[in-house]
Amino acid sequence: MIYKPKIKVPNPEFLQNMQSILKSNALTAVCEEAACPNRAECYARNSATFMILGDTCTRACTFCNVKTGHGKDVDINEPQRLAKAIKELQLKYVVITSVDRDDLKDYGSKHFTACVQAIKEQNPNTKIELLTPDFKYNTEALDTIISANAHKLAHNQETIRRLSKGVRPQSNYDRSLKVLEYYAKNSGLHVKSSLMLGLGETKEELLVTMKELLDVGVSELTLGQYLQPTPSHHKVQKYYPPEFFDEMKEEALGMGFRAVASGILVRSSYFAENLGE
Ligand code: SF4
Ligand code: SF4
Repeated sequence: MIYKPKIKVPNPEFLQNMQSILKSNALTAVCEEAACPNRAECYARNSATFMILGDTCTRACTFCNVKTGHGKDVDINEPQRLAKAIKELQLKYVVITSVDRDDLKDYGSKHFTACVQAIKEQNPNTKIELLTPDFKYNTEALDTIISANAHKLAHNQETIRRLSKGVRPQSNYDRSLKVLEYYAKNSGLHVKSSLMLGLGETKEELLVTMKELLDVGVSELTLGQYLQPTPSHHKVQKYYPPEFFDEMKEEALGMGFRAVASGILVRSSYFAENLGE
């Protein structure tokens, strides 16, 4: 059974404003690319998620709808355009994420910091969360991210250990845990991770992964239902009822996470500005 939560329709004015500012600044917002069901709520709260470093990922996760291929040259003007768009949209909280750029020497980490710097210059009151790739656990790249002095750092674990290799073939379960641990130990910031439910995990496996995240220092967690973007992507193995997300939230808080967002439509950047505040 598919549990369908009520999706609020975005205010047409907010939507049009967002779309025209994205277009005029040649930017990609995950909110729009994914036609995220939470746009009504997020835009109304002046919150959005941007994807930098192009629209082509060097990896090919089986659940993800981003295209795979060779990355293009890094657009050195993107940080300024991003900062300008954030100003025009009067955003108070932004999540900056990227495709994986394993083709770049620094994995794109310096471009993240350039974006943070530009945003801070033009939007001194906007909080910035960085949702990063694993940078193949290159500590120089991780240090570059930490040096950006963002408000929060995040990296998505996505799924439980047994399924990880199948759904994230170029990534690695333990490497992601190490990245999160590195952020937690060295940044002094709250570190967040996210899991998709419905890929084929059991409840017990889910609880084990949650505990592993907590043990490496992750303090904030989001849990959401996986939805298959196209017929050729990983099939949804299970649709969980809302009560299960409530139960998992209680489990996570009981384990010791300081903040948890859990629900069918919850995405890693959902209510990002409120999580833990
Ligand atoms: Fe998608 Fe990220 Fe996987 Fe790239 S690394 S395919 S952007 S989930
Ligand atoms: Fe954008 Fe994330 Fe909100 Fe979806 S949940 S609209 S991607 S900020």
